[in-house]
Amino acid sequence: MKKLTGKIALITGGGGGIGRATALAFFAEGAKVVVADLDTSTARAVADEITAAGGEALGIAVDVAESDQVDALVSQVVKLFGRLDIAFNNAGIDVEHEPLHLCTEAMFDSLISVNVKGVWLCMRREIQQMLEQGGGIIVNTASIGGLGGAPRQPVYGATKHAVLGLTKSAALEYGRKGIRVNAVCPGVIRTPMMDRALERDPRRKTRIDQVHPVGRVGEADEIARAVVFLSSDDASFVHGVGLPVDGAYTAR
Ligand code: NAD
Repeated sequence: MKKLTGKIALITGGGGGIGRATALAFFAEGAKVVVADLDTSTARAVADEITAAGGEALGIAVDVAESDQVDALVSQVVKLFGRLDIAFNNAGIDVEHEPLHLCTEAMFDSLISVNVKGVWLCMRREIQQMLEQGGGIIVNTASIGGLGGAPRQPVYGATKHAVLGLTKSAALEYGRKGIRVNAVCPGVIRTPMMDRALERDPRRKTRIDQVHPVGRVGEADEIARAVVFLSSDDASFVHGVGLPVDGAYTAR
């Protein structure tokens, strides 16, 4: 039996590696999917892929760092589909990897505005809707960088700690109102984000498979399946966690 039949799901960063894989996994489990991304063409391409396979999906442009755009996005989802059952707040950015003393203010500001403010703006509007309709499910994308120190990615790691902070606080605040909130913490996953990081620092290519104790990087679909779990009734008592999906990286 499909796990998300008839559910209305919103995915930010839905045109990217993890977002696309999750959009396809949500569709495979019976959900209707709104694919939102800064990059309109990739959002539409993912929605088209789902529609071509017989599903219902829509690609919409959004900058998650802009409150009016986020508010309009959620309002549009509700106008079109009547409710919002599942929100996967996944849009995020990485920047050049530098030790803390060499990070610039511009790097700091851009990471905070997308990875923290963007997730908070989405949660704020989604929770307003979910309170109105009597419940819902939120999954945020954090990272293994949110579970421990992240050398050469200190600000990125700080933003992902913040995502876990927002996740846990919201879980405590809204659990009794029928809103279940969790985060997924991916290890290094083969996506365009990883490809860009390797292009910036090709020396990492030779050691990338050794990052995780399982001896390989993860695939976007392996994160998508964890997000489907967190978004389904299989996870009905899983609330307020940051679930590592990381080939034992955090088990060290
Ligand atoms: P990706 O670059 O393939 O996808 C990210 C998507 O977010 C892109 O489509 C991009 O256009 C979109 N985006 C960026 N800024 C946006 C904005 N302001 N508004 C709306 N959309 C925006 O990367 P990915 O690896 O799929 O990353 C998805 C999430 O997973 C991110 O939050 C990232 O931090 C997190 N993550 C990735 C890895 C990894 O190794 N790939 C590991 C841990 C966590």
